[in-house]
Amino acid sequence: MEFATFADRAGTIEAEPADLEIVDHVRALLEEAGSAGESESPKTAREPATIEIVARFVQGRVVPAWDSTKLDIGPSTCYEAIARAAGTNVDADDVEERLADLGEIGDVAASYDFGGQAGLGAFAGGSGAGADGEDLTVREVYETLEDVAAAEGSGSQDRKIDLLFGLFNRCSSEEARYLARLVLSEMRIGVGEGTVRDAISEAFDVPEERVERALQVSNDYGQVARVARDEGLEGLDAMDLEVGRPVQAMLAQAGTVTDALGEWDEAAVEWKYDGARIQLHYHPAAGPENGGGDAETSVFSRNMEEVTDALPEIVEFAEETLEGPAILDGEVVAIDEDGDPLPFQEVLKRFRRKHDVAKAREDVAVRPVFFDCLHADGEDLLEEPLTARHERLEEVLTPPSADGDVDPEDVDGLSLLWLTDDPEEIESIDADALESGHEGIMLKNPDSTYSPGRRGKHWRKRKPDVETLDCVVTGAEWGEGRRATFLGTFELSVRDESTGELETVGKVATGITDEKLEELTELLESHIAAEEGQAVDLEPAVVFEVGYEEIQTSPTYSAGYALRFPRFLGVRSDKNPEDADTLERLESLRSE
Ligand code: AMP
Repeated sequence: MEFATFADRAGTIEAEPADLEIVDHVRALLEEAGSAGESESPKTAREPATIEIVARFVQGRVVPAWDSTKLDIGPSTCYEAIARAAGTNVDADDVEERLADLGEIGDVAASYDFGGQAGLGAFAGGSGAGADGEDLTVREVYETLEDVAAAEGSGSQDRKIDLLFGLFNRCSSEEARYLARLVLSEMRIGVGEGTVRDAISEAFDVPEERVERALQVSNDYGQVARVARDEGLEGLDAMDLEVGRPVQAMLAQAGTVTDALGEWDEAAVEWKYDGARIQLHYHPAAGPENGGGDAETSVFSRNMEEVTDALPEIVEFAEETLEGPAILDGEVVAIDEDGDPLPFQEVLKRFRRKHDVAKAREDVAVRPVFFDCLHADGEDLLEEPLTARHERLEEVLTPPSADGDVDPEDVDGLSLLWLTDDPEEIESIDADALESGHEGIMLKNPDSTYSPGRRGKHWRKRKPDVETLDCVVTGAEWGEGRRATFLGTFELSVRDESTGELETVGKVATGITDEKLEELTELLESHIAAEEGQAVDLEPAVVFEVGYEEIQTSPTYSAGYALRFPRFLGVRSDKNPEDADTLERLESLRSE
């Protein structure tokens, strides 16, 4: 396919306001690319077919979403190439000035006449550049951009400029418009991922949801378009995850315990680790019968960027722990000498590091915690329910030498999962998570499948409290067992302005570490007014800031309201009981 044909369609699409019409234009473009002549067919089996290139270009991509290859073309490299192709009177500053005027690189590129430098184009060609006078093809653009991406090391910027110049030099205005946008990742013609999915479905008469599934497992619109054309539905359905090719991460929504237990029979509760998302791909060494070959481990970020070299601990973990091929989803957490978690900022010192990794590793250690298993031993698990995937995860991470039943708590790298419908148990898991230095909890639908790239309702990160309340502590209870010398379960009250009385609204026992309980006991002990058994009445003196999920009417407390899932956030040492929140504020928060 000629690049001019692509540019022409891109122009039509850009001018088209209606989504349905856009799908139709993309469909036509795919069909045209699909019927491309022999001369444009790939040189080797690994080279993409024209339809693959077109399906990516139309979204402004050169390589598939899973591929971390970067063109590494900065704006100034592009301006320089445009300037050179535009003639001896133009330099990169002129290009920038026009950009300031016109506001968009496509308009700038289209404003020049590139014909004049034709004679020079021949020197600059990459592997794809054709002879002068021939029309530029989509394949030539792709192959030259591959060469641009491959240029590395000293002199690489000049090489990139030469290659780009060679392309611009053969462009008409409209071709230059879309080439400039493509190389700067600014295509923006209104073609989203859904558009290409629908267009593939229409062009090759395959159901949208099957195209969607194939896209989820491959992250490659080009490949899916080609397979849909050449092999139809059967081919699409046969597409699977590939170890070594990242999948988009499933994402979470904010949500409450109330929502989760309202919608599901039970919730799967996990700790929420404060680190960075990783996806681990592991392939064991091939046996001699299969030609040998080392084990291969790759680690990807949440955005499918490869971060393997920055995280040697994860590679070592995989090689020591895993037996068969696997794709695991989890979090990498920074830890201190005792193995306790450090804040997220620490992980960032390691995550995308390219230089001095060994030194960085000495400064900040990391460990992985996995909470999902997408593939194990040749089997894709995306369609399995969460509980089954988690069981598989546990198996995969359990050392083969372990005999009999291993306590999940002893399985290195495994995030624990509790199934429960009991809000109090959820509270106590939350308290343990916070006490162990983690962020809180995740609530997941135990029956849900893994939906790559979706921020759905099946995974919920417990919502941070929007409004907090400052309540007076009017009572407490002595703890039990190892907490017998600490006060806990604090009674919370607010003042009713009309009577001046303090009225109770709930009790808070969660979100408090042992260390904090000791501090609070010291703070409150001198205010004990009366004791009966474990229960203690306190003079109003100390104010707690508390979070909660909801304010409900309730006969249990004297205010007539109860805080649902109250959580201790801190002592408001700057506030006296008179400054604490009132019943009136509580009522106004309820009606918001
Ligand atoms: P957020 O980044 O606030 O949208 O929260 C979602 C992120 O929490 C995920 O992308 C993970 O990186 C992280 N996370 C930590 N622990 C878990 C867990 N147990 N399950 C899922 N995601 C988790």
